Amino acid sequence: MQKKFNPEKVIDVVHWNDSLFSFKTTRSQGLRFRNGEYIIIGLAQENTRPILRAYSLASANHEDYLEFFSIKVEGGAFTSKLQHLAIGDEVIIGSKPTGTLVIDDLRDGRNLFLIGTGTGLAPFLSIIKDPETYQRFDKVILFHGVRYVNELAYHKIITTDLPHHEYLGEMITEQLIYYPSVTRESYKNEGRITDLIKTGKLCLDIGIPDLDPEFDRVMLCGSPAMLKDTCAMLDERGFQESRKKGVQGDYVVERAFVEK
Ligand SMILES: Cc1cc2nc3c(=O)[nH]c(=O)nc-3n(C[C@H](O)[C@H](O)[C@H](O)COP(=O)(O)OP(=O)(O)OC[C@H]3O[C@@H](n4cnc5c(N)ncnc54)[C@H](O)[C@@H]3O)c2cc1C
Repeated sequence: MQKKFNPEKVIDVVHWNDSLFSFKTTRSQGLRFRNGEYIIIGLAQENTRPILRAYSLASANHEDYLEFFSIKVEGGAFTSKLQHLAIGDEVIIGSKPTGTLVIDDLRDGRNLFLIGTGTGLAPFLSIIKDPETYQRFDKVILFHGVRYVNELAYHKIITTDLPHHEYLGEMITEQLIYYPSVTRESYKNEGRITDLIKTGKLCLDIGIPDLDPEFDRVMLCGSPAMLKDTCAMLDERGFQESRKKGVQGDYVVERAFVEK
């Protein structure tokens, strides 16, 4: 019988700023997942049950390690411990990845918009390393919305490292458009996703036609406020959400993701 959890060892930790960090662990060979899914992870505690939380997989399913991108919540039961992880520490990893942010549930289309705020970037980090993403869509637009510039984690990896990736580099260079945007200080791109779409600025900046349900597909992950406003805007434009696993739509949302 498959075990519910497997212990994995931390192999790398990166702190982006005071409130964000990432870590990598070893990966059991038996763990299979679809890019965009999340999994339950946990930390063992003495004399009591482990603390468990849901986390998006930021590594792609073809990579031989697991990667997670995490918030540090002040006083948070889990992340106040998790943020002290060091190389060699143990994290328990669930064996049942799941989630609604998978490209299988999207109809074929022209451009794929990946819209993430804060740590909602995490599932898209696996999706932009999936060759199938580039086979199914002409352009892949990765929008990362944050409050401050120092929250733009993975900026260098996306702009500098991935275009030189041994196998994916060419596809990423030609098809991936990264659009980081900041709301609370000045930056080359500023503003919320809904405003950037409504005013036409996003599409104008990146030189592609305005969002159209006939051609474009969208994936959303982030704060409930962003999800609510963006879904309402997409619905108004005639986009249909995939509301059931296995039933394709024009957009998918990770509704379980908490960020209040
Ligand atoms: C499907 C799913 C996927 C998730 N994936 C990730 C992920 O990839 N990375 C990640 O950091 N968290 C993710 N989370 C949230 C995560 O499960 C925990 O809530 C987080 O680790 C904080 O745990 P905590 O015990 O320290 O604080 P909690 O007691 O869980 O949360 C305390 C407060 O912090 C807020 N909060 C929790 N997580 C976030 C967040 N990521 N960004 C902003 N505010 C937050 C909560 O809304 C709450 O108000 C995910 C949640 C779900 C349901």
